[in-house]
Amino acid sequence: MTSSHRIFHGRRLLVLLSILLSLGFFATTLGSYLVSKDAIREAILGRELPLASSNIYVELQKDLVQPVVISSTMAHDTFLRDWVLRGERDVSEMNRYLQEVKTRHGAFSSFFVSDRSLSYYTGGGVLKKVSPTEPRDAWYYRVRDLKEDYEINVDPDLANQDALTIFINYRAFDFEGNYLGATGIGLTMDAMYRRIKEYQQRYQRTIYFVNHQGRVVLRGQNAPLQVDDLRTSPGLRDIIDQILEAKSGGYQYEANGTNHLLNVHYIPELKWYLFVEKDESEALVKIRQTLYINLGICLVITLIVLMLTNLSLARYQRRIEDMASTDKLTGMLNRQAFTILMDKLMADCARSPRPLSILMIDLDHFKRINDQHGHAVGDQVLCLVADVLQQSLRKSDVAVRWGGEEFLVVLNNCALDEAGLIAEKIRERIARAPLAVADKVLVVEASVGVSQLRPDETLDQAIQRADGGLYQAKRSGRNQVGVFAEVAPSI
Ligand code: GH3
Ligand code: MG
Ligand code: MG
Repeated sequence: MTSSHRIFHGRRLLVLLSILLSLGFFATTLGSYLVSKDAIREAILGRELPLASSNIYVELQKDLVQPVVISSTMAHDTFLRDWVLRGERDVSEMNRYLQEVKTRHGAFSSFFVSDRSLSYYTGGGVLKKVSPTEPRDAWYYRVRDLKEDYEINVDPDLANQDALTIFINYRAFDFEGNYLGATGIGLTMDAMYRRIKEYQQRYQRTIYFVNHQGRVVLRGQNAPLQVDDLRTSPGLRDIIDQILEAKSGGYQYEANGTNHLLNVHYIPELKWYLFVEKDESEALVKIRQTLYINLGICLVITLIVLMLTNLSLARYQRRIEDMASTDKLTGMLNRQAFTILMDKLMADCARSPRPLSILMIDLDHFKRINDQHGHAVGDQVLCLVADVLQQSLRKSDVAVRWGGEEFLVVLNNCALDEAGLIAEKIRERIARAPLAVADKVLVVEASVGVSQLRPDETLDQAIQRADGGLYQAKRSGRNQVGVFAEVAPSI
């Protein structure tokens, strides 16, 4: 049957189904991706980064405790105090003392600045005199006026080619509590570099220290210190003031196409801000992979569902079409199917004209067969006649069960003469067919009416004329062919 007579609109159903499935799958997959993304972001910002920065801070403090104790011991050392009170006479004694402290504790430098003489002593001798007008000596005057016992300060070391050094500057007093000067040790940044590098590698984070001006003062690499102004750094420049003011907190910013998650922790001992940062896209690689896999699975499932639906739709369509177009008993086409087929055949004929003939076949005294042998036997007879018909026709011919025991045949590309011969052949075959039913052999005969479609008439008119031929055959004693050659009566 042609597609215009389809009962289902299968394609529309499939499109709707695929839209529904895709939308459903896409929404749930994407929804769970977004939820996991938020959860990961929250975990990084809320727990992971703060934990890392407080770990680093604790370690840093641990690193600084011992140097503070050493510096305190120096400030309270009776030798140092006595030596100053004695008038700083033998500089070599002070040198030896400072040298000894430095080597014993593995410090980078050790020093004492006397408030009375303003001499800067190191393990190697008197380095210089400090002066209130020299900016590099500002630290000393700051320490002198300090309220606390000591300060930790990061400065270039004057005694060591200006290498960046952590100084513990401890205030020393004599036995009466008079201020004597500042002493203490300097530590290299090596330990901090190593620690930061280790953290960076272990957790794939970027760790750096920033000063009050928003400049990067220390990075985790072994490379020499690069000073970067965060006020010019994309993404960060918009929030740096807020970060420096808030001292500690969690932030997000966009830079270089990725979202950066940042934790800031102010370290009062160093007066620095510790920045611990993570590139969000690295953290999301795994769930993004999961997203792609899930989308792939959804696509496959959608395709399988669509394929299965399409298959079963096609099957049901075929079955329903068969049911609608064929006669249940004989399996022949029914009248409805015939109408559709004939529309097509007539259109074909209009395009390329050819002769069409019609046979109307009616079993003779079929009522008797039913009466004598029962309705079931009658049914079997109808099936056997249908078989005879199918075997006697070409593929291009159309045979239908027209009514109870009436069959109609359209002979394609066949003129009246030939149609008459075919009708005769069919009649003969039916009469001769050994129709064995149960234990009896029945004789079934049929009458046939024949007509040829005229160019000026409709198919219905040609059928009526075939019916007329059939009527003649019946009237003339049945079991014969009646050819209706005249023009159809007008209706
Ligand atoms: P005629 O030679 O004049 O055609 O006589 P007839 O008995 O064949 O004609 P009639 O029209 O009087 O009877 C047709 C019968 O066919 C009546 C009906 O019960 C029977 N019949 C119609 N359809 C079926 C069917 O599907 N199965 C069976 N078993 N009988 C059917
Ligand atoms: Mg009849
Ligand atoms: Mg009959």
